[in-house]
Amino acid sequence: MRIGLFGGTFDPIHNGHLRAALDVAEAMTLKRCILIPAATPPHKTGKKIPNVNHRLAMTQTAVEGVDALSVSDVEARRSGPSFTIDTVRHFQRTLAAETELFLLIGADAFFEIDAWHAWRELLEAIAMVVMTRPGEGAADFAVSLSAFIEAHVPGDYRFESARRAFFHPGRPPIHYVPVTMLDISSTDIRSRIRRGRSIRYLVPETVERYIREKELYR
Ligand code: ATP
Ligand code: MG
Repeated sequence: MRIGLFGGTFDPIHNGHLRAALDVAEAMTLKRCILIPAATPPHKTGKKIPNVNHRLAMTQTAVEGVDALSVSDVEARRSGPSFTIDTVRHFQRTLAAETELFLLIGADAFFEIDAWHAWRELLEAIAMVVMTRPGEGAADFAVSLSAFIEAHVPGDYRFESARRAFFHPGRPPIHYVPVTMLDISSTDIRSRIRRGRSIRYLVPETVERYIREKELYR
């Protein structure tokens, strides 16, 4: 069985995340994608981030009734910074041995991968699926991705355009999927709320309602 792992701050979860996850599930024939809200994102320390329980609840309500998407609270329950490598190891330990795991990662995040904790181990541990994102990379995403990998990810990666992937003799591949380009970000959503603007159609209605009821991001 093929399963996707999709971590993020999800502050809040929005339609950009959700559509991208579904697009990857279809393109990569994944049984499902597991969305994993980070407790303390390592790169966002010092910022004011709502309690992970709010972010978890919003993510749960966003995927309700969607078979291909589910939510895990592993990072929410773990103390200390949420390192992706620990999460990957957790699922490798707990899922059935024949499960094939894929780590979903947006282009903006992938283009900073060499700053991540244990990023080399991560590339050795799990296949990646890089998702396009508006404003990230040139018109030809494969070209931007090739250039980045060549400059920042040492190793013998060989690009196969027909399979939309970079293959390495000793490591799992780095795939990429051109997802529906929705120029939506959590930063923009938080800013709209602060300015008293509407966020309708940017997030699922249940998430919009949750934010209003809990008075988040004001
Ligand atoms: P913020 O503005 O607070 O950074 P964000 O919208 O970037 O929020 P994150 O929680 O930081 O959301 O992102 C989690 C993951 O989802 C990252 O890998 C990111 O690249 C990806 N992602 C976020 N928004 C989109 C989008 N609109 N399309 C594709 N991928 C996205
Ligand atoms: Mg982000």
